[in-house]
Amino acid sequence: MNIIAKIKHWFTEAPYVEGTVIESERIGSRIQKVTIGLPLDVRGPFPMGSYIVAYTWGCIPRAYSIAKTDGGSFTLLVSFSGGGAGARYFRDITVGKKVIFYGPFDDFPYRAGTGRPKIFFATSTGVAPFRMMVDAAISEGLHATIVLGSPKEGDVAFKEELEELSRTNPLFSFVPTLSNADPNWQGARGYVTDYIYKNPEIVRSSDVYICGIPPMTLGVLDALKKIRMPQDKIFVQKFG
Ligand SMILES: Cc1cc2nc3c(=O)[nH]c(=O)nc-3n(C[C@H](O)[C@H](O)[C@H](O)COP(=O)(O)OP(=O)(O)OC[C@H]3O[C@@H](n4cnc5c(N)ncnc54)[C@H](O)[C@@H]3O)c2cc1C
Repeated sequence: MNIIAKIKHWFTEAPYVEGTVIESERIGSRIQKVTIGLPLDVRGPFPMGSYIVAYTWGCIPRAYSIAKTDGGSFTLLVSFSGGGAGARYFRDITVGKKVIFYGPFDDFPYRAGTGRPKIFFATSTGVAPFRMMVDAAISEGLHATIVLGSPKEGDVAFKEELEELSRTNPLFSFVPTLSNADPNWQGARGYVTDYIYKNPEIVRSSDVYICGIPPMTLGVLDALKKIRMPQDKIFVQKFG
């Protein structure tokens, strides 16, 4: 067993897949949107809310949520705010590059059949698992809201398509919330937790999903506690 195979074995015995980057796009100043094509013997779509673990630099595992998926590919949103191994690996990744990963792991499912509206809280790349969950909620005839925190307008992932969806579908609301907005920004300013304090009744009557880095997740959980949100209606995916 060579050294790379040994390192992989320490982390997991799950099967490995070698995908190929088919699209790589910069979003704002801190996100790379990367679409990876699957080999012919591995077919999607991967489950909603699942994540894969990529072997960045061939041996450093980093988890990324699936933002979109079809039979032959899946899309990730990779933050390079932290500047670590995963960030540096994906930041300038080009089409044609091979990416070894294992998964998908399915531990953040969409809860269908509750009959309650959905509110999805995220910052930055934390919006990834919610892109498909919004479509699932709408298919159930339920209202869905994404409250997405970002520093600036250009940093909002899926901005155009989510704005378009909110314009054309009354079952969807999009609340991009900017912490460092330009003076001409017309939307919400501040932090995603502001939405909770402004709309406690709406939040309490919904299923709440949270995804992002631990400080944001803990901040939202704290705000939910203050409005006495039922604990069993809160679903969390922490990025670390
Ligand atoms: C189940 C799961 C799903 C995840 N999905 C995603 C995803 O879809 N997109 C994504 O970008 N990350 C995701 N993460 C986090 C990801 O695996 C990495 O930990 C993260 O991107 C930082 O990796 P790094 O090597 O760049 O930095 P590291 O060397 O690991 O960390 C460097 C610094 O970055 C900070 N940091 C950690 N995570 C983030 C982040 N997401 N944004 C900004 N700073 C961070 C750390 O606190 C640290 O200070 C997920 C994690 C888990 C556990």
